[in-house]
Amino acid sequence: MEIINNVKGTHDIFGDETDAYDYVESMMKSIAEIYAFNGVRPPVLESEKVFSRGVGESSDIVRKEMYTFLDKGGRMLTLRPEFTAGIMRMVVQNKLYATNELPLKFYYLGPVFRYERPQLGRYRQFNQFGVESIGNNSPYSDIETIALAYTILCSLGLEGVTLKVNTLGDDESRDNYRKALKEFFAKHIDHMCEDCKQRYELNPLRILDCKVPEDQEIVKGAPKISDYLSEASKARFIQIKDALEVLNIPYEVDDGLVRGLDYYSETVFEFHYKSKAGVDYGAIGAGGHYGKLMQELGGPELPGVGFSFGIERVVSVLKDDNLLKDIKKELDVYIMPLSEEAMLYSQEVAVLLRNSGGYKVDMCFDKTKLGNMFKRAGNKNAKFAVIIGEDEINKDSVILKDLAKQEQEEVKVDKLIEKLDKYFDSEEE
Ligand code: AMP
Repeated sequence: MEIINNVKGTHDIFGDETDAYDYVESMMKSIAEIYAFNGVRPPVLESEKVFSRGVGESSDIVRKEMYTFLDKGGRMLTLRPEFTAGIMRMVVQNKLYATNELPLKFYYLGPVFRYERPQLGRYRQFNQFGVESIGNNSPYSDIETIALAYTILCSLGLEGVTLKVNTLGDDESRDNYRKALKEFFAKHIDHMCEDCKQRYELNPLRILDCKVPEDQEIVKGAPKISDYLSEASKARFIQIKDALEVLNIPYEVDDGLVRGLDYYSETVFEFHYKSKAGVDYGAIGAGGHYGKLMQELGGPELPGVGFSFGIERVVSVLKDDNLLKDIKKELDVYIMPLSEEAMLYSQEVAVLLRNSGGYKVDMCFDKTKLGNMFKRAGNKNAKFAVIIGEDEINKDSVILKDLAKQEQEEVKVDKLIEKLDKYFDSEEE
């Protein structure tokens, strides 16, 4: 029978990789909790409109990358290409903004889908962890969000992360800037790529993200947003930079950073990290402030700020830089039945240790040599072996072997948990 492979751009996660993902995700969640963010779980499926209106018709995501289809009931649905618009849809639909305790502070984790060209660090189904802080326009809400992202990366052991920041200004700044870009690109656009021609009509800001080398040369000469900022936006950006300095968060201003999603305004940022071997996976995380997204989705005009990490990229850089070596899984006890007759008794001991003792226990189901079982215990990083033969069954006991010390003793089953508790308590001291 023909083997069926996974879909292009998707990947399976198993073995040590699962441990790596668990570790990274739980670190991200626990730090978000410390920053007083709360978990949300919006659906993977949304109406297509959520993203065409939210992320914006001029973004590459909406123009080219969405998995959109008609369901059997004729609804136009999209597999989420990002979380922010869906979370905003949830906030508007459930009127979560109707509280005097703004911002709403949410974190999320899960798969997103983009029909991109698969390459290093780029998948069609990948996982994002991110946060949204919704409903408060203070620049310190932006700062809190950046500080959270930076703390996560430091806690994972990534040193030398580059935080790039820029401001896209308020509506007035961006309107003026778009006009200036249109004027500048008018004389070049006929020689630029087809995508840029569309971008020129829809939103000339998007041209700045063009990856075609000849177009990038032209982009180098384009006007900079910094020359078109309103006084209010200039002042806000100064506050952001000052706060980053006070909080000791290193950053560089990148005035070419515009981000590919249309909802951004004011502060935008990206985190980059080059692994020690020099591999560059692109941005490992990115985000920014958004002014009008809630309105676009039918809600009141409340701003927000958020970021998103690509879990695949974070795991890749941690792996490359050998920062995952301490997360290997361990087992408290590996049970070794010496005969078929010992299997049931071993099951009883396993259930007792797991359910009453709370110990992590695995057992061997094969009739194999004791030497093999010790090898398996080693592979599983077990601390103890519990060996069970006929003698032990007759005496209601087991042989308990400390695998590090290579010492063993006979222990009555009703004393086994007490014995292990004593050992693990002394380990903790
Ligand atoms: P974005 O929503 O485009 O700002 O992306 C946020 C983060 O998701 C990026 O910084 C990347 O780390 C990650 N990311 C974006 N696209 C992909 C992709 N196709 N495959 C893997 N990770 C991605």
